[in-house]
Amino acid sequence: MPQTKTINILGVTGSIGCAAADVIAANPGTFEVNLVSAHEDEAGLREAAQRLGAKHALLTSRDSLDAPLETPVDVTLCAISGMAGLLSMMRAIESSGAVAIANKEPLVAAGALVMAHAAKHGTTLLPVDSEHNAIFQVFDFEKRTAIEKIILTASGGPFRTWSLEQMSRATLEQALAHPNWSMGKKISIDSATMMNKALEVIEAHYLFDLAPEAIEVVIHPQSIVHSMVEYCDGSLLAQLGASDMRTPIANVLNWPERLKTPGQRLDVKALSTLEFEAPDFERFPALAMAYECLARGPYACVALNAANEVAVEHFLGGYIGFAGILEAVGYSLQQAAPTELPTINDIQKYDEHIRALTTAYIKNGATQTAVSG
Ligand code: NDP
Ligand code: MG
Repeated sequence: MPQTKTINILGVTGSIGCAAADVIAANPGTFEVNLVSAHEDEAGLREAAQRLGAKHALLTSRDSLDAPLETPVDVTLCAISGMAGLLSMMRAIESSGAVAIANKEPLVAAGALVMAHAAKHGTTLLPVDSEHNAIFQVFDFEKRTAIEKIILTASGGPFRTWSLEQMSRATLEQALAHPNWSMGKKISIDSATMMNKALEVIEAHYLFDLAPEAIEVVIHPQSIVHSMVEYCDGSLLAQLGASDMRTPIANVLNWPERLKTPGQRLDVKALSTLEFEAPDFERFPALAMAYECLARGPYACVALNAANEVAVEHFLGGYIGFAGILEAVGYSLQQAAPTELPTINDIQKYDEHIRALTTAYIKNGATQTAVSG
């Protein structure tokens, strides 16, 4: 009888948190849930805690995660949305055998420190993001010099075929309507601007220690091939699956063993077309911003993420139009001056500085404020 794994789920009420709860509930006796957290959704938290038989349930708008995260567990799943998950991720690294990371924003802003912290504590980091999980499954870490590049696939989001002019009039509802995935609001908007793929390029740079030139993005509207690794002999290794986050979640929660998932299965016989095309950097300038930020340095990645979080919040609140998101991010990137950020505290301060700058820009009405709807 294999031993049960002890697990924490940070952000259990979200889209990833619920998918993880499904995987755990479908495998009774495999996991013992120590702690689940949510921010404000008290009813959702209670329901998840009951469903999973969790020992502790914390509402982070009221309770601190610090002390409870000191209890050692086998795995912590970081599924909070945004930079708000940074400190709990660092704490989780200190007390978990493995940390499964869905929460990409802290990796974008503090990737080098997160990776160094994991190395210091001997903690395994396991990528949940479907593209990074795909890469993780086909990346030969022992023969990394034989790897020439990775190819991150992108669905292209709901506006893949839209012109810039059409996108400037996009409504909130249209931007939230992702063709293949059902996700939280912030990542759904990021998928519409393709900032999600931009963040993922930076995420991959840190997780797999790859130069920006070794990270390519290709548009693949069907979201079946989740990403690929190209080896020096010309072999291209890919991971395929249905668009269901329960597969990558199952892959990491019981890693290195495989788990049964209640998720959708891919019937390759039913696939008629798989399309791949180069991304359009003009219609989707966020992608170019990612490579620009990697070239400029870690401070620019902090700025990219912070400005984007603020701009997306304002779009979700109806204060700016869709085009205003990348306009505000572009402004803040222009204003961002090079700074060394050796500690988490430095990163947080710089993040706050960029948030203030972006908020002021938006409040001054400098963005294309035409809100459609
Ligand atoms: P959701 O918005 O659906 O869920 C976010 C979770 O985090 C909720 O449990 C929420 O609690 C909690 N939370 C929100 N704000 C805070 C805060 N300030 N402090 C602590 N907890 C907070 O997000 P998703 O599940 O969609 O995404 C989570 C992360 O995973 C993101 O970083 C996203 O980019 C990444 N990801 C998501 C994918 C997906 O398919 N959804 C795919 C790949 C990556 P409450 O409900 O109480 O607000
Ligand atoms: Mg992804």
